Amino acid sequence: MSEKRFALPIAWDGHPIVWGDWKPVSGMTFCGGITKNYGWRGCRQCHTRILPRTVLGHVDLGIGPGINLSLFRCMTCGYSTVLEMSEFTNHDVREWILDASDYGLEGSWNTEMKQGELTI
Ligand SMILES: [Zn+2]
Repeated sequence: MSEKRFALPIAWDGHPIVWGDWKPVSGMTFCGGITKNYGWRGCRQCHTRILPRTVLGHVDLGIGPGINLSLFRCMTCGYSTVLEMSEFTNHDVREWILDASDYGLEGSWNTEMKQGELTI
């Protein structure tokens, strides 16, 4: 019996995520504030230059503005990253690489181990 997997993480550090609609990444996205430090230089995993698709998520913490997430997924190999921006990150963008464990019933947890894998 395999554990249930979702198309997107259902929770972020235990808080439910509300996801919007998938959109193709356009040039406009790269001009936006949230992605000012992010440029698509090709997929890190399969090295395709085809632009990823993106979906915006929001985590309502019940107090304050919550957490904004931007997920990018390579449509060739499925490699997915999430940009996180919240008051807890001083509105800096942090990037997380998703792995299979993030799609389970418990959602995505930001562990130090995963953050340590990240190099932009
Ligand atoms: Zn890829």
